[in-house]
Amino acid sequence: MSEKTCFTLDHSELPKQWYNVAADMPNPAQPPLHPGTGQPVGPDDLAPLFPMDLILQEVSQERWIDIPPEVLDIYSMWRPTPLYRARRLEKALGTPAKIYYKYEGGSPAGSHKPNTAVPQAYYNKKAGIKKIATETGAGQWGSALSFAAQMFGLEALVYMVKVSYYQKPYRRSMMQCWGGKVLASPSDTTQIGKKILAQNPDSPGSLGIAISEAVEVAASNSDTNYSLGSVLSHVLLHQSVIGLEAEKQMKLAGDYPDVVIGCCGGGSNFAGISNAFVKNKIAGKDTRIVAVEPASCPTLTKGIYSYDFGDTGQMTPLLAAHTLGHDFVPPSIHAGGLRYHSVASQTSQLMLDGIIEAAAYPQVECFEAAVTFCRAEGIIPAPESSHAIRQAIVEAMKAKEEGKERTILFNLSGHGHFDMTAYDHYFAGDLVDDHMDEAGVEKALAAIAQLPKPAGYTGKPTRV
Ligand SMILES: *Cc1c(COP(=O)(O)O)cnc(C)c1O
Repeated sequence: MSEKTCFTLDHSELPKQWYNVAADMPNPAQPPLHPGTGQPVGPDDLAPLFPMDLILQEVSQERWIDIPPEVLDIYSMWRPTPLYRARRLEKALGTPAKIYYKYEGGSPAGSHKPNTAVPQAYYNKKAGIKKIATETGAGQWGSALSFAAQMFGLEALVYMVKVSYYQKPYRRSMMQCWGGKVLASPSDTTQIGKKILAQNPDSPGSLGIAISEAVEVAASNSDTNYSLGSVLSHVLLHQSVIGLEAEKQMKLAGDYPDVVIGCCGGGSNFAGISNAFVKNKIAGKDTRIVAVEPASCPTLTKGIYSYDFGDTGQMTPLLAAHTLGHDFVPPSIHAGGLRYHSVASQTSQLMLDGIIEAAAYPQVECFEAAVTFCRAEGIIPAPESSHAIRQAIVEAMKAKEEGKERTILFNLSGHGHFDMTAYDHYFAGDLVDDHMDEAGVEKALAAIAQLPKPAGYTGKPTRV
């Protein structure tokens, strides 16, 4: 028993309900605002893009929300996912700390993203929708959504940022395997795409442009909806299965985490692993909860809490969150999934309230941590996940210095099998460390200057 490394749950222990952190947050996340009127966005504003079930989940205050049997049926293809005790990593580090990790890389798409892609496809199918349009950068979200759409007989239309379309042909092939239709963005299938191509036929595209194309298609076709892979509250809700399972598995292991860690782009896998423990922390448990981001895109550690657009094209509602400015373009680091200028409103509110904390690391030391990890534990991590590993190692080494026991839990959000070019660069020694430059905060302030400010706005980073 004491040498056990893998803690699995029986199929029957798959969570039957998602956990909604909104029910327990001491202060609610501020509502999204309509950019034209400055008023909170209502269900009718969102109805052209999302099915009503998801809109209701977005604003729900219910603590527990039933997972439909059709969704459980697909989840059970790879869930419950394993929790591992990283005994070999502990030994390699010589730490008295116990390190646990929840592994989400065993899903068909290789990451946590299908946890939300599946229910999103299900609720769209239920609403009579035929097609889901979305954007993808490096391709993780597009592949998760293509898989989920295929499971429910829907068509997935994926606008893939043009540079990635040509640089990451295998992720494109994955989407095609699951029946997804992949278009290089900007494309000539939308007004916005045509306009950009007319101005610049060689435009490499951006996530902001791809979002605008997908939203345009969804807004102008009644049989088509739009889908987002992170940031929104309903996405964080769906990801709660990660932490709910981990909570049970830690119990099986006879431990409880002193610190819970997740990498943080839009905040969905971080909320996924941590919200069950946030619930217990609000109820009195003493646990540190750490979101880890790249030093080159330090949204929580250096961003300004404000209302801002979710996209470069200024088409989305205004969201209250830490932001580096909607026009912020992070350096093209290899953890593509962490290159978002903002973060989920719920995550920002928990940060303001001191329930969670944040850390940021440059990419080279994250790859170093990833290699240390895979040489001990065998699994090759996604570059995004390596940020969580970095923090876990920092915590484990601190425990060693202090000669203290410490129980660490982190989320291994995905495997890195489609990111081997990134590892090639690391081994060749030509990865560069980018930090956000000193003018970053000023630029963020300029981007939000004309926008409304939420309660809690200070005009300064929350914590440095
Ligand atoms: C997309 C992605 C992330 C970042 O997204 P979050 O919404 O912040 O979780 C992290 N890890 C992997 C493997 C991803 O694919």
